[in-house]
Amino acid sequence: MDAKIIDGKLVSASIREKIKEKTKAIKDKHSRVPGLAAVLVGEDPASQIYVRNKRKSCEDVGIYSEEHKLPASTTQDELLELINKLNNDKKINGILVQLPLPKHIDDSLILNSVSSEKDVDGFHPINAGYLFEGKPQFIPCTPHGIIKMLEFYDIDIEGKNAVVLGRSNIVGKPAAILLLQKNATVTICHSRTKNLEDVLKEADIIVAAIGRAHFVKKEMVKEGAIVIDVGINRLDTGKLAGDVDFEAVKKISGFITPVPGGVGPMTITMLLWNTLTSLEKSIS
Ligand code: NAP
Repeated sequence: MDAKIIDGKLVSASIREKIKEKTKAIKDKHSRVPGLAAVLVGEDPASQIYVRNKRKSCEDVGIYSEEHKLPASTTQDELLELINKLNNDKKINGILVQLPLPKHIDDSLILNSVSSEKDVDGFHPINAGYLFEGKPQFIPCTPHGIIKMLEFYDIDIEGKNAVVLGRSNIVGKPAAILLLQKNATVTICHSRTKNLEDVLKEADIIVAAIGRAHFVKKEMVKEGAIVIDVGINRLDTGKLAGDVDFEAVKKISGFITPVPGGVGPMTITMLLWNTLTSLEKSIS
C-alpha cells in the first residue's frame, strides 16, 4: 500500500489559522500587531520570490510586514546601520535577512548583528545555544516545521531511529537536535558518511536535507519508514524535485512529504509563528 502523504499545506493552514486568531486577540487587547522586516540585498530572483511570498503570508494572518530592498553595491556598514535601526524599531518584532548576501558582505557578521530577541530565523548563536540547551527561544523555521508536521499526524518520535541526511546549521543540525529532544535515537549523515545506504535502511524516520535530486532511493528505505523531504532542487525540465525519489519511495514508506507541498509551506508558517512569539514575549 502507498504511504500516507503528509500534506504541508494542510498543516500549515491549521497553524496559520491559530496565528491569525492570536494576532487578532493581541490587537484587540494591546492595540499591537506583530511586525516583520525582510532585508534583501541584490537581485537574486529566488530571494525576490521568497520575500514576496512572505509579504503575502503576513498580510493573510494580520502581521505587519515591510521590505528593505537594497542594491548589490550596498556596503557592510550600510547594512549594519539598517539592522541597527530595525533592532530599535518598536513596531518590528522579527528581522529576516535573506541569504545569500553579496560576496563582499560577511554573512555571520550580519546575522549576528540581528538582535537575538528579533531573530525569527533562529540563526543567532545565542538562539542556537538556547536550542542546544533544550530551552529554545526561536527555533529555525524549517526544522520546527518538520516537528509540527510529525505532531499533526500523531507520529510518535520517542525511541525511533531517526537519520538526518545533511548537517547544515539551518536544517540538518537543528533538525537532529529537535528529534533528539523528542527522544529519538539520532544519526546525522553527511558527504563523508560511510555505508550511508546501510545507515538509512535502519531508519524509522528519515529527514533528507542535502540538495541532491532523488538521492534517497527505494532500496535505502525500510518498509513503513517516515520520510521527510526537505530538498528543493530545480530539474532541467524546470520542475521542482526533492532529495527523495518520491514516486518509488512512497510505495514502501509509511508516511512521506511531497515536494512541493510538504516542508516548504511550513517554513514560512513557522516564520510567522516566531514573529508572533516575539511580540508575545515583548508584551508579557
Ligand atoms: P547545505 O547547507 O548545502 O547542506 C547540505 C548538506 O548535505 C551538507 O551537510 C552536506 O554534507 C550534505 N550532503 C551533500 N551531498 C551529500 C551526499 N551526496 N551524501 C550525503 N550528504 C551530502 O544545504 P541546506 O541549506 O541544509 O539545504 C538542503 C536542501 O534543503 C536544499 O535542497 C535546500 O534548497 C533545501 N531547503 C529547503 C527548505 C524548505 O523550506 N523546504 C529550507 C531550507 C533548505 P557536508 O557537510 O559533508 O558537505
